[in-house]
Amino acid sequence: MTQLTIRTPDDWHLHLRDGAMLAGVLPHSSADFARAIIMPNLVPPVVTTAQAEAYRQRILAALPEGHDFTPLMVLYLTEGTEADDVEAGFRSGLVKAVKLYPAGATTNSHGGVRDFSKVTAVLERMAEIGLPLCVHGEVTDPDVDIFDREAVFLEKVLDPLRRRIPGLRVVLEHVTTRNGIEYVRSQEKDLAATITVHHLMINRNAIFAGGIRPHYYCLPVAKREEHRLALREAATSGDARFFLGTDSAPHVDPAKECGCGCAGIYTAPNAMACLAHVFEEEGALDKLEAFASLNGPAFYRLPPNEGQLVLEKREEPVPVPDKVVTGDGTVTVFDPMVPVRWTVAARRS
Ligand SMILES: [Zn+2]
Repeated sequence: MTQLTIRTPDDWHLHLRDGAMLAGVLPHSSADFARAIIMPNLVPPVVTTAQAEAYRQRILAALPEGHDFTPLMVLYLTEGTEADDVEAGFRSGLVKAVKLYPAGATTNSHGGVRDFSKVTAVLERMAEIGLPLCVHGEVTDPDVDIFDREAVFLEKVLDPLRRRIPGLRVVLEHVTTRNGIEYVRSQEKDLAATITVHHLMINRNAIFAGGIRPHYYCLPVAKREEHRLALREAATSGDARFFLGTDSAPHVDPAKECGCGCAGIYTAPNAMACLAHVFEEEGALDKLEAFASLNGPAFYRLPPNEGQLVLEKREEPVPVPDKVVTGDGTVTVFDPMVPVRWTVAARRS
């Protein structure tokens, strides 16, 4: 097969940032994706419905002419979040999810949750109205090894939380371990997981290949090969509980290439090409549409997109720019470390 047409995909976990960075990176997502769940970890974070509406307006204002893209807004859960504000945002159609960051887990997450008893009322309201909670699934305890933080989170935080608040609909974001996949599969309802493109393509060796490689550092950090294989199996299985969330997370190069580089991998420009490569390798191109375009909307109770994306496999590897230039500086694009012959040939409305 040299051509594959799927319904236009959505990105169920995306960082667009703000200001000049937003303007520089948004076109790469809005070219291929019709909708995206927009992460709220700005400085200051998007906590209230009013802030989410203002951010949505800034995103729409930065959208290139002719791009058809709907930002799906997310509130950043803090210990001061008010249940009534969350519900009002949900009822108005603006708010599609609430994001839980354990305090200090990743970029701009210091305002996150320390004491879970303080957010119980909000989570109970979300369970009542069916609003999904997106979870960054890592504990932040420095005594827990960085490669074990997801597995420990499942056992110590996520499972008890879901038992305490039955009916709460949860997305385990950017799952990176076999443990996470198994946990999702063991639950019958109200739980799904997003998987990134880069976690399907690299394992933790990439971070140390011949030297320290800051552009392969992200959180949750890439794990051992056995975990990558488990993610691949889940993503390409057609199981509706797994769907695409790229976690494309731009940082300007100086913030990555320094003594204490930021976590985040920028995949928006080549996410769909890389994904087609992975699904072809797994002999599962027929499952790509479910993973990228159908399972996510089904969980979020939204209709799938009507338009189509045409992917094409070329004879030769298709070059992708190494860097994207933004008003804030250059951002390095994910290098999958293998030649990718797939590319997005067209998008039809
Ligand atoms: Zn993220």
